[in-house]
Amino acid sequence: MEEEARFWENIRESDVKCNLCAHRCVIKEGQRGICRVRINRGGKLYTEAYGAIASLAIDPIEKKPLYHFHPGSLAFSISTASCNFRCLHCQNYALSACGLDEVSYRYMGVRSLIDRVKENRCDGIAYTYNEPTIWYEYTYDCSKAAHEEGIYNVYVTNGYITEEPLREIAPYLDAMNIDIKGNDAFYRKVCKAKLEPVLDTCRLARSLGIHIELTYLIIPGYNDDNQSIESFCDFVAGDLGGETPVHFTRFFPYYKMADAQPTPYQTLLRAYTIAKAKKLDFVYIGNVLDREHNSTFCPRCNSLLIERSTFNTHLVGLEGNRCRNCGRRIPIVL
Ligand code: SF4
Repeated sequence: MEEEARFWENIRESDVKCNLCAHRCVIKEGQRGICRVRINRGGKLYTEAYGAIASLAIDPIEKKPLYHFHPGSLAFSISTASCNFRCLHCQNYALSACGLDEVSYRYMGVRSLIDRVKENRCDGIAYTYNEPTIWYEYTYDCSKAAHEEGIYNVYVTNGYITEEPLREIAPYLDAMNIDIKGNDAFYRKVCKAKLEPVLDTCRLARSLGIHIELTYLIIPGYNDDNQSIESFCDFVAGDLGGETPVHFTRFFPYYKMADAQPTPYQTLLRAYTIAKAKKLDFVYIGNVLDREHNSTFCPRCNSLLIERSTFNTHLVGLEGNRCRNCGRRIPIVL
């Protein structure tokens, strides 16, 4: 359903500039922005994606991945079509590489969505599978309504949202999993974007009190060198704090990178070792069957706190948000 968009300005006659994400597209009348779902009609910007649900599922929150946020809870997970990035390796390209005219979708109003979340006994809503920023207006309205019902909201995002919309949604946005995909050269070559706005979003989200976890998908030959992984870890340790959970995930050849190699397990272990040497407390390895590197241990006494196997989660060593053995505070939202 089409609605007038937010965060745009008129420039030059009927051209508009969208300020929702760091692309800040200048859009001529009748044209759409890079995300394909925001259109200039008559010198005004409209979102075509309001309530247009192209994908819907009920997922464990661990699948996002969010390991330190309501562990074991269920997230009603929704997306629309398209994206504001053009990642060559996109693992969800059937949705994100298409416009709304190329996928099947159905309209769901805010009230209907909240009712579905409750009917299905979900604890929260995840705006996921494609970039949630591009249908911001809908995610904002849903998040606000969800909070009134005690339902949490999470973004699984590339972090390209700009400051003003993030500040506005922050009171209703409980957690974000933000991808950091590589160094700036990687962003420019593989995603047609830049790194710095993503880092800005991480810092701002942290300062606004949103729970954040980071995902770094390791692609052999692209972002698996020690220097790229060390830079990522230095940023986390220096700008966000060593208690920020990070997830190194395994890449599988896909989409326009079907010729690349899957990430060897040893590479994931190397990244894990680097991150631990950089004093990151909560480091995980994803997209592999590895109970040890998916479970949470106390950074002080090494007691097992949360055991995870595939998406089965057991809280075994926590007393509230403290280690039952040594009493250390564990940064986890329960
Ligand atoms: S949200 Fe879409 S239209 Fe707006 S700046 Fe980003 S890509 Fe461009």
